[in-house]
Order: sequence, then structure tokens, then C-alpha cells
Amino acid sequence: MRVLIIGAGFAGMGLAIQLQRAGITDVLLLEKASDLGGTWRDNRYPGAACDVPSHLYSFSFAPKTDWSRKFAPQAEIFAYQQQLADTYNLRPRIRFNTEVSNAVFDAEAGLWQVTCTDGTVFSAPALVTACGQLNRPLLPRVAGLETFKGEAFHSARWNAKYDLSGKRVAVIGTGASAIQFIPQIAPKVAQLHVFQRSAAYVIGKPDRAYRPWELAVMRRLPWLQKIDRGLKYVQHEARVLAFTVVPQVMKAMRLNFRWYLHRSISDPALRQRLVPDYPMGCKRILISNDYYPALARANVEVVDGEITEVTETGVRTADGRERTVDAIIYGTGFAATDFLAPMQITGLNGRDLNEAWKEGAEAYLGISVSGFPNLFILYGPNTNLGHNSILYMLESQFAYVVGGIQQLQQHQLRYMDLKPTVQAAFNHRLQKAVDHSIWQQGCDSWYKTASGKNTVNWPGFTFTYRHYTRRPELANYDCIR
Ligand SMILES: Cc1cc2nc3c(=O)[nH]c(=O)nc-3n(C[C@H](O)[C@H](O)[C@H](O)COP(=O)(O)OP(=O)(O)OC[C@H]3O[C@@H](n4cnc5c(N)ncnc54)[C@H](O)[C@@H]3O)c2cc1C
Repeated sequence: MRVLIIGAGFAGMGLAIQLQRAGITDVLLLEKASDLGGTWRDNRYPGAACDVPSHLYSFSFAPKTDWSRKFAPQAEIFAYQQQLADTYNLRPRIRFNTEVSNAVFDAEAGLWQVTCTDGTVFSAPALVTACGQLNRPLLPRVAGLETFKGEAFHSARWNAKYDLSGKRVAVIGTGASAIQFIPQIAPKVAQLHVFQRSAAYVIGKPDRAYRPWELAVMRRLPWLQKIDRGLKYVQHEARVLAFTVVPQVMKAMRLNFRWYLHRSISDPALRQRLVPDYPMGCKRILISNDYYPALARANVEVVDGEITEVTETGVRTADGRERTVDAIIYGTGFAATDFLAPMQITGLNGRDLNEAWKEGAEAYLGISVSGFPNLFILYGPNTNLGHNSILYMLESQFAYVVGGIQQLQQHQLRYMDLKPTVQAAFNHRLQKAVDHSIWQQGCDSWYKTASGKNTVNWPGFTFTYRHYTRRPELANYDCIR
């Protein structure tokens, strides 16, 4: 049984390890970049770090007891991924510089034919996409971006060769990445203009370096790491109550935010402009200890209001004013709702996945789509979280996908195709739960499509998701020999 996996980030690598453990060793990962790591290979901007504690943001089957900080920096997470690849000897199974452009299912043969941009074709009975949700950088839709004559880059394509010292810099966006790199560059640059479309809720980050004695104890008693991980899991999981079950709890969290903002920013006018105009939790809640202090610096200006144009020399806002800058950094996030784009995936009877998803992506458990047999999606529709670790969700999906591939093998199936009724019933329930969540309480966010459908987040407990994904029920699939 050959398995093709598209992408070698945490998802692709983790699944390859689990397949190997289950005795399925004919696995090939196709990776468009020249290295593994996905998110943590691409996001090398200063200050990049996880915002879920490291003991939770690592695989349960590959614990690491020597993280330097409570929230590890990018370099350490990337090194952890390299370590995983070495420990499980993954590199020989990864074909780098190989971007998949399309995949077509041959129902007669029960095979996916996968074509890459260099023309190479691979085929296998089982195809897994592990392309991430936050993989394709998004630039703002503003006139004149290409006319700018200075240096310009997205945070996920950071130009480390460009020295920002003494420069006038515009940062567009105030999301999760921007709040990490702004404090790092603010002391270096001559002037920083932070263009904020809408303020974010930012609260303190319980981060610090692990003390030498803590590391020594954890090295000697590795089970302590498991206990810490378990406690962190429960602590983060409790937050889902505020997101989906009792959104009123957010009101109490908002008091915490107001107190934190008050303590961090002394200028009342600036403070007022940093209060979001939507309910807390509707967009991702951000954590940082140095973002507000950076905004309070004399060389930093927060600019509200719509950007109307990027000119050859700077950024113009709706009031007609142009800030002249040497560099523009886009902290504008990713095309999260364009799942699997720009790949073209064709299932049974020539059915096109982009067409099937034109009203917004959906899948059963985020993994299976009716009409696309033997295709398994990792970190697919509605499996992102606002409150806990994506690696926990991925591990749940690994069990399901390994189970599905074993079923294909054991029952000698040509293919298994999800029943449309199962997909429809699941998504009906899911969207009802989404409707009750804080994400739908009056804001636009990257969780939603242009028409307002939330195709990104899982609206519930992650342990419930784990229960649903413990193994595939063959009764939910049309099984063809
Ligand atoms: C800056 C940042 C910080 C984050 N912090 C956290 C955090 O603290 N906690 C958390 O839980 N999550 C966090 N996330 C989410 C993070 O994306 C996931 O936790 C996780 O890394 C996803 O892994 P993945 O393998 O699914 O996707 P990715 O890491 O995005 O990997 C996908 C891989 O697929 C490859 N690929 C894509 N398309 C193709 C193609 N057509 N052909 C071949 N290869 C392809 C890409 O090159 C990439 O290597 C963060 C995301 C970002 C961007």
C-alpha cells in the first residue's frame, strides 16, 4: 500500500511517522520547498515563537524536555522538526522541490494520479494532503503595491539581508505575527508606522526562560514533562467554554484585557485607539508582553483608518496623508480559507474539489470529502483552534488516516468514498455550533470566507474531536472492491 503525502510540515512528518509505526512504510512525501518544516521553515521573522506552551506544542510521541523557554522561539521549533526527521529517518522519504499541481482519481484502477509542476507523475491508492492552513501569505488588496520603490516583504518571507537599522518602516497589519516582530524591530528603526485596520485584543504572555534547575529536574524525571503537558492541556481546553459554550464568560476575560492595557499604555488617547470595536474572542486573542510597550515608544506611530494606496515612496491613508518610508512589511496573514489552493483535485466522475467547495470548504471531520475517495486531508476545514495546540488536532487526525489506510488494505478495497449524507449531516451540526460561537458575534476575520462562512475553526472541545476521529466507521463510506 503506497501512500503519497503532500507537504512536509508537522502534519506530513507526523503522519509519516505514525504510518511507519503501523508497518506502512511505502510512503512518499512531496514537498514544494527545499527543506521540511512548513510554518517553522517559512516564518523566520524576528520574535517568531509559538503561542501555545512548548510542552503542548510538540508531539506526544516525541516529547522534548529541554525547551529553553515556556514558549519556544521559531529556531528551536524548527530544530525540533529536524530532530524528528533524523530520529525517524524521514529525509529519504521526502522529495523536495516538488510542488503538486493536480491530482486525479482513476476509479477503475483505484489510484490517485498526482502531477507536479515539473511534470513528474506519481500514483498511489491513498493520497493525503498536509498543506497547512497558514501556508500561503496574503498581501492586502490595496492599489499600487507593485509601484513601491523601496524594500517590501511579507512576514513569512522575511528578508534578513535587509538591514532595518535607522530606516523608516511601515508595518501593515496587527495580527499574531506583527505583534511578535514589531517589538523586535521598533528599537532599531528610525521611525515605525503601524497601520492598524482594527485593534487586536492583546493580553500578557506567561513566558519566561526555564531555569537551569527546572531543566535538570525534567531531564532526570521526564514524566514531569507529561504532567506539565496535561495541566497545560486542561488549562487551555477550559477556554473553549468562553468561545463556544458560554460566550458571556468572555466579558470577564475582557476585564482582564482592559486592566492589562491600562497598565501597559499610559497615554489615554493611544489606549482608546487600542480598544477593539468587536467582542473579545471574535478574532484571535493575542498574547504578548512587549507589544504595547513597543507601541508606546516615541519613534512608533499607530495609524488608524483605511489605506487607500501604496505609492512609489510610501503609504497613503483615507485622509490623504502619505507616510514616506524606506520599507514596507506586510503582517497581513495567510489565505486560510483557500484550502488546498492552487492545486486542482479531481475525484469521481470528474468532480472538481474547488467547484465542490465554491460555497466554502467542508469535509467530514475536516478529513474526508464525498466524491473524493481515498483522499485524506490533514488540518483541513474546521480543524483550526483558537484555544489549544494544532498538534493535538493533527495527532487525532493521524489515528483516523492510519485507520482508513488500514481498512483499505485489510478489506482489499479499491476505494472508500464518504457518503454525501454523512458529510451533510456533520456539517449541518458543525455550522449550528459555529453559529453559537463568539466568532460569529460581529466581526470579519480570517476564519471566514468572503460570504461569512466559518470554514476554519473547530467549534468544540478537542477531546470530543479526538473521540470522533479514533477510527473511521466503514458504514459512513461506500466501500468498493
Ligand atoms: C507564525 C505562525 C505561528 C503559529 N503558531 C502556532 C502555535 O503557537 N500553536 C499552534 O497550535 N499553531 C500555530 N500555528 C499554526 C501552524 O501552522 C500549525 O501549528 C502547524 O505548523 C501546521 O502544520 P502543517 O504541516 O499542517 O502545515 P505547514 O506547516 O503549513 O506545512 C505545509 C507544508 O506543505 C507544503 N506544501 C503546500 N502546498 C504544497 C504543494 N502543492 N505541493 C507540495 N508541497 C506543498 C508547504 O511547503 C509546507 O511545507 C502558527 C502558524 C503560523 C503561521
